[in-house]
Amino acid sequence: MENTPLHILSSTFGYDAFRNHQETIINRVLDKRDTLVLMPTGGGKSICYQIPALIFDGVTIVVSPLISLMKDQVQALQANGIDADYANSSMTPLEEEAVLSKAMRGKLKLLYLSPEKLLSVRDTWLTSIPVSLIAIDEAHCISMWGHDFRPEYTQMAALRKQFSEIPFIALTATADKLTRKDIIEQLGLLEAETFISSFDRKNLSLDIRAQIPKKDRIKQIVRFIEERKNESGIIYCLSRKNTEEIAGDLQSFGIHASYYHAGMNPQKREQIQEQFINDDLQIIVATIAFGMGIDKSNVRWVIHNNLPKNIEGYYQEIGRAGRDGLPSDTILYFNYKDVILLKQFADQSGQSNVQLEKLKRMQQFAEATSCRRKILLAYFGEHLEENCGNCDICLNPPTFIDGTIIAQKALSGLVRLKEKVGMNMLINVLRGSQNAEIHAMGYYTIKTYGQGKEHSFFDWQNYMIQLLNIGAMEIAYQEGNSLKVTPFGWDILKNGNKVSLTIPQKIEPKKKAKKTAVNTGNTNQDLFQKLRQLRQKIAREENVPAYIIFNDKSLKEMASEMPVTDNAFLTISGVGNQKLESFGDEFISLIKTHKETNTPKVKIPAYIETYNLHKQGLTPQQIAEQRNVQVTTIYSHIAQCYEEEKDINIYDFVSEEVVNQIKPIYSDLITEGKLKPFFEALNEEVPYHEIRLALAVIKRRAVL
Ligand code: ADP
Ligand code: ZN
Repeated sequence: MENTPLHILSSTFGYDAFRNHQETIINRVLDKRDTLVLMPTGGGKSICYQIPALIFDGVTIVVSPLISLMKDQVQALQANGIDADYANSSMTPLEEEAVLSKAMRGKLKLLYLSPEKLLSVRDTWLTSIPVSLIAIDEAHCISMWGHDFRPEYTQMAALRKQFSEIPFIALTATADKLTRKDIIEQLGLLEAETFISSFDRKNLSLDIRAQIPKKDRIKQIVRFIEERKNESGIIYCLSRKNTEEIAGDLQSFGIHASYYHAGMNPQKREQIQEQFINDDLQIIVATIAFGMGIDKSNVRWVIHNNLPKNIEGYYQEIGRAGRDGLPSDTILYFNYKDVILLKQFADQSGQSNVQLEKLKRMQQFAEATSCRRKILLAYFGEHLEENCGNCDICLNPPTFIDGTIIAQKALSGLVRLKEKVGMNMLINVLRGSQNAEIHAMGYYTIKTYGQGKEHSFFDWQNYMIQLLNIGAMEIAYQEGNSLKVTPFGWDILKNGNKVSLTIPQKIEPKKKAKKTAVNTGNTNQDLFQKLRQLRQKIAREENVPAYIIFNDKSLKEMASEMPVTDNAFLTISGVGNQKLESFGDEFISLIKTHKETNTPKVKIPAYIETYNLHKQGLTPQQIAEQRNVQVTTIYSHIAQCYEEEKDINIYDFVSEEVVNQIKPIYSDLITEGKLKPFFEALNEEVPYHEIRLALAVIKRRAVL
């Protein structure tokens, strides 16, 4: 029993159920069969090899190219009481020796290795430790088709043969069909079964905005951030210079942002990353160098300031938002300059065909006019039945018009300009602009000059992009980015082929129906903040990132469930036995103190207090004395309690006789709502409190 996967999930990791394929995968690995796992970022890949590692006798080797992530993962495992360690080329021989010695003495369940390290030790000390499983993380790095190819990964092909008796598990968050096949072939996985989890991250909104001028973009971003006070976010830029600029812009608006890129010294980078992880820094403006090594679960939004190189990268980057499953927003800004720049990068990369193809797909996605999520998931081989309702297209559907005339104007202008100009010049000529170059070149003399005045520059830009997209014209990158008419374009010009275009939208998208800010309005914010501070204090003492102690989701659950016993604390997601032991006391005592000082003193109504004292056996007289009120008040409390059918023997306080006296006059006098008319009708002989009690008896009977 002790060693079943489910038991380990709950006692060691603190979760009560497996997610989608986890359990099947774990059982397959336990059966020693090869497996390929595709799950989105945050999907829960690690547990697929961590639980088998705990069940198998020997050591599980985990190959991971991300050295910083390696360290975090090891710390996270250790925090859960698991014997784990890592070795990479940044260690001294002495440190490495210590790790090896632990592994040989059977003191390690998981050993993380960088691919370089694995290759350098695989014929030496690796042969002397009992390896029970090999897990290859970020497995797409082995494939030339992947977006993050690493040459050192290819040498791992030989591993499968060397360790022929033990199972292999390869894991990745990003792999199209081709890459998938390649991973299996390159690693030589045997009869591998592939498990593909849904890549749909429903909690992420998708929004893409094209051609927004820089100034407007900053304004939009500032407004966006202001609507999300204290919420963590990442802005991705293409260049280092860009990250510094934008961080500076945001700071000038009083926003707490810093930049991050590979050109900074490692200490500075680490410091910024740490601040971000610990919520001491709200926003990071970074190149894509940032994020690989972090597992911050409460990133609430991701903005791309430029077009990413490929869909895999884009999806991985936006996937850093909302790992805790709470609603999170993503925006992608892009313009044509990005595409031109990225094409240059791809050309210089040495595998330009693959990269250009991937860029093309990225661009098509960004320019699409149907549900974004459908396209995105289709890219990963998944079919979504319904439109998602959580992307800019779904929320703001485009309107199509007959764009034939527009297209013809643009194309004929281009022909008359001898296909020697770029987009901006063509637009200026169409709009009849007066500028020095137009004059110098004599462009004002051509027939189409000024024929497109009716559309703004912005709209023309949008139409031009659509014309590029539908293949009516193309950009000659080798000829100074001048535009050329394609054969399809000639058909439109000469044969009047119809063209459908969408009306350009001034991009300030409609407010979304649902509010996605999640950090506000929570009644337990106060306790949540206290828990966060405690987490931070412990994280500093232990010198680990805060989320290693507990993630936000666990803290939120603590804030709402307020567990004060060990057992209750164990039911919190992410709390296993080790964390209970390490941190339980401190967190529970904080929650206890919070409860004591903050439990609202519920005001008990006076008549209920009377009732309670009555039940304790006190007479009305005694109650009145104890509470320092008139005894008549106590009788009226008793009357009220009786009316509300509390357990009271009313005839202890009023005689049946008085009740019978009042009955005949009840309906005549009750309408006045006062006791006095009764008092007078009974010749002032019956005391007020008895009248009050008798009325209660009659009222209650009338109800019955
Ligand atoms: P990936 O490697 O796929 O990006 P991780 O393995 O880091 O994702 O898992 C993401 C988060 O989800 C981690 O905090 C992990 O502890 C948590 N998690 C994994 N499996 C479960 C589960 N079955 N129930 C609850 N949380 C889980
Ligand atoms: Zn959609």
